[in-house]
Formats: sequence, structure tokens, C-alpha cells
Amino acid sequence: MSTPLPVRPSTAAAPTGPAVARVHQVAKHYGSGDATVHALRGVDLAVRRGEFVAIMGPSGSGKSTLMHLLAGLDSPSAGEIWLGDREIAGLDDTALTLLRRERIGFVFQAFNLVPTLDVIGNVMLPFELRGARPSREERAFVGRLLDDLGLADRLGHRPRELSGGQQQRVAIARALASRPQLVVADEPTGNLDSRTGREVLAILAGAAATHGQAIAMVTHDPVAASYADRVVFLADGRIVAEEGRMDAERIARFMLSLETAR
Ligand code: ADP
Ligand code: MG
Repeated sequence: MSTPLPVRPSTAAAPTGPAVARVHQVAKHYGSGDATVHALRGVDLAVRRGEFVAIMGPSGSGKSTLMHLLAGLDSPSAGEIWLGDREIAGLDDTALTLLRRERIGFVFQAFNLVPTLDVIGNVMLPFELRGARPSREERAFVGRLLDDLGLADRLGHRPRELSGGQQQRVAIARALASRPQLVVADEPTGNLDSRTGREVLAILAGAAATHGQAIAMVTHDPVAASYADRVVFLADGRIVAEEGRMDAERIARFMLSLETAR
């Protein structure tokens, strides 16, 4: 039997340091009347500088919705979303777009690569969009990242010439290239074999530990979640448990208890 985990208020569970992104009592519903789907029902979550947080939960529990809200890509039905010291409800579209470009890297389930750009073009896009020419040091960083992700010999290829796993790695390189304060990743290892998946997880953990980036990662994989500093469990639109670093076996047992409780 798995030991039940305590539900702790996120303020108690969070390490000290400024929140890079924070949602406060967010709710999100889709549709109306009898057809209303409550994707999130009052969630509090803060992701801090240098912190790697894994978000787990059964399919349909609201993980992707939470990631979209945390990244300022969608607006909540209720509650507040803060990126640093800015509440995004107070920002117009242009200001929000600029803030996202400046501070956030995304890896989505659909990779959202630009089909007409080659690998290096896709990876350098965040610099391009900011109108910022990367420094020599930034270019060297991106070079190492592409090497570590096994993409160095694919720089001139377009997305359709790459496998699913390679496209996923390009999306990861793009999200990390400009070392944004916040990286939001939805199943970033979903299409990768286990060895490549481990490399990606080590890169994400390193981004938090070495560069102080805040990482929020949705995953189904207990081994992937075991790389995180904190694991947050969602079920039916609510945070039902959260805990510091956990081993994969304990995570797997807890996930099973959530899935069988439904
Ligand atoms: P997860 O990522 O945990 O699988 P999601 O956040 O994608 O869950 O979805 C949570 C719930 O909200 C699901 O019931 C899903 O069907 C519903 N949902 C998500 N996006 C939409 C949408 N755009 N329109 C209607 N329902 C949606
Ligand atoms: Mg999802």
C-alpha cells in the first residue's frame, strides 16, 4: 500500500526565494451549462528561481491547462497569475507577449517548430524574436546544448526531415537557448528513448541548478519526476499532494493510488 502524502499549502512546501511564476487560486472551465468542463478548480502553485518542479496526474487532471496558465498563454476563469512581480491580468496583449518572449521558454506536446526554418533557425528564434543578437558566450552555450542534445549534425535539417524524438529535442533546445527565467515543459521526454530522455532530464536539472532557471515540467514518467526538486500531484483539477524530491518507485505507487481512486 502506498503511504498517503500530506497536502501542504504551497507556501509551506516552496523553498525560499522569489517566485518566477505563481498562480493563485486559479480556476479554468471550458464550455457552459451542462457541458461545462472544470479543468482547474482553485490551484495555488509557485515556481521559484533555481527550482525544478514536476507536475503529475492522471490524464485529464488539468496539467496542460495549468502549464498554459502558468506561462501566460491563456487566461483563467478565476484567480491570479503572476510572472515575477507582474499580475498578467493587468497587461495588454503586446506587453504580455513581450514579457513571455523575455522570460519564458516552452516545450509543448505538439512541438510547434517553424516548418520552414532549419534546426539552427528554430533554436535561435527566441533571440531573433527579441531582436537581440546573441553574444559569443550565448552562441557557445547554444552550441554545447545542441551537442548535448545530439543535434549538432542536424543543424541544416528542417523539422519534417527529423524524427519525432529529434523534433522534441529541437523544441527543448529552443526553450533553453536564451536561458529564460522560466521553462515550461509538457511531457518533454514523451517521444524520447530512455537514454535520450535521461540526458534531457539532466539538462533540465542542470538549467535549474547551474543557471538558476525555474523549471515546471509535466510528466507521466515517475523516473522523470524523480529528477525534480518537488513533485506536485494533480487530480480532477486540484493539487492533491506535493512533496520534495521523491524516488521513482514512491512516485509510481502514489500515481497508481490516484488512478485507482477515480
Ligand atoms: P491533462 O493535461 O492533465 O491531460 P488538460 O489540462 O489537457 O489535462 O485537460 C483538463 C480537462 O479540460 C480535460 O477534461 C479536457 O478534456 C478539458 N479541456 C482541455 N482543453 C480544453 C478545451 N480547449 N476545450 C474544452 N475542454 C478542454
Ligand atoms: Mg496534457
